Amino acid sequence: MDVTPVVYIEPMGARVGNRRLGAAQFLGAGACAGCGSRGAVLCTGCRSRLARPLQDAPVPGVKQVLAPWDYAGAARSLILTLKLRGRRSAAEPLADAMTKEALARGLEGSAIAWVPGHRADTRLRGYDHAEVLAAEVGARLGLPALRLLRRAGPRRADQTALGREDRWENLEGAFLARNCRAGVVVVDDLVTTGATAGACSEALRNAGAQTVELLAACRA
Ligand SMILES: [Zn+2]
Repeated sequence: MDVTPVVYIEPMGARVGNRRLGAAQFLGAGACAGCGSRGAVLCTGCRSRLARPLQDAPVPGVKQVLAPWDYAGAARSLILTLKLRGRRSAAEPLADAMTKEALARGLEGSAIAWVPGHRADTRLRGYDHAEVLAAEVGARLGLPALRLLRRAGPRRADQTALGREDRWENLEGAFLARNCRAGVVVVDDLVTTGATAGACSEALRNAGAQTVELLAACRA
């Protein structure tokens, strides 16, 4: 009588932080986040199609808002790849563009902070994506990336579900800052209404920061 051997095959994937990534995500590791072509995380074709942000509105409490790219196309894909797919190398082209923008426009701040992620999200991904961006940008600009901000109080409602006015109200007191007398550059992946950056700025200025600037990869 034939006995078919039972073979247990480990699911294909790779560990990123504490999370096992599935095969599809693993296969994406050597491909462009924009078009999926093999090679770098951002191919030259997709990079050439990236556009400047459509708006440049000021954010209350923030001295200047710097963002090299509109939140669309491959720039959006890079952010989602970094945030949701655990592919840390997606931070590199984002940080390159942010650094170039900072050098072109000029920064007053001498310390870099970042908008801290929610603890549960950070645990799931194995890293805080904004912290990764801050470290990459800080290394390129020769500025220290400091853990100046933390989230305070209960987890707030998801900003994307709220209207413009409610977004500001939702984040009142949502951040606390460590004392810092310098000018601070807050790094984040994306600026939409600026409510998050505004709440971070208020916390930093209450803690003594002289000025607060915002440096993001994209603006929607
Ligand atoms: Zn591409």
